[in-house]
Amino acid sequence: MITRAVAIMFLGRLGSLNALEQTKPSRFWLRWLGQAMPSADSIGRICSLMDVGDVRGVLHHVYVRLKRMKALTPPEHGLMLAVVDGHESTASRKRCCSGCCQRVLHTTRGDVLEYYHRYVALRLVGRDLSLMLDAEPVQPGELDGQEEELASDWMWVTTLSARQAATRAVVDMGHERWSIENQGFNELVNRWHANHVFRHHPAAILIFVLFAMLCLNVFMAFHCRNLKPEARRAVTMLHVGKLISTELYAEIRGPPCASA
Ligand SMILES: [Zn+2]
Repeated sequence: MITRAVAIMFLGRLGSLNALEQTKPSRFWLRWLGQAMPSADSIGRICSLMDVGDVRGVLHHVYVRLKRMKALTPPEHGLMLAVVDGHESTASRKRCCSGCCQRVLHTTRGDVLEYYHRYVALRLVGRDLSLMLDAEPVQPGELDGQEEELASDWMWVTTLSARQAATRAVVDMGHERWSIENQGFNELVNRWHANHVFRHHPAAILIFVLFAMLCLNVFMAFHCRNLKPEARRAVTMLHVGKLISTELYAEIRGPPCASA
């Protein structure tokens, strides 16, 4: 029941548990949950107690289903690409939890301790449909002693033989590597509010990131495989997200409900 509520929060791009709670008077919830929606506080607390393996299991299930249905097709070069990259989801100088990493910032007013959360994500890059498959949090102390890189250089190196991947394919894969930044993290942060701290608790932060990825995958699969090309061309993905939230808000009857 909690997972169904959280899924609508992400699919409707509501952005916070409080925004979700304000839709409580919507008649949609009784239909969707079979009961009244719990408070924002309860949803956050229950998410912090969830088994992360269960949520990963659902992410895996969606991937397996899409693969079996042949909904995942490789790019033109024929190879599916798995991209791994890190992302900092939140930073604060005031609030911290047992899962926060720490760093010292050298400011003009002296050194300041900053707390932050970072995770490493895995993305599977296909032709038109790509999936965010998993996330693993960076643990406190894991990055200690590592200097921030101020300048960098890069080159493409491959262990694939020329028969397995021609130069063109390797160059294309080099470009596709950025898909995790552009269509993964940017989409999750700017359109799905995934960097919002729904509850500042190490387990809850990971659970909400995984839920955001799950909803993004389901939404993208729906958008790429269920919508007709004319419908896809006619409106943006954000418009489709707004239609989902409109359905939720349209069924609110009566005066605004005070947050608990
Ligand atoms: Zn924290």
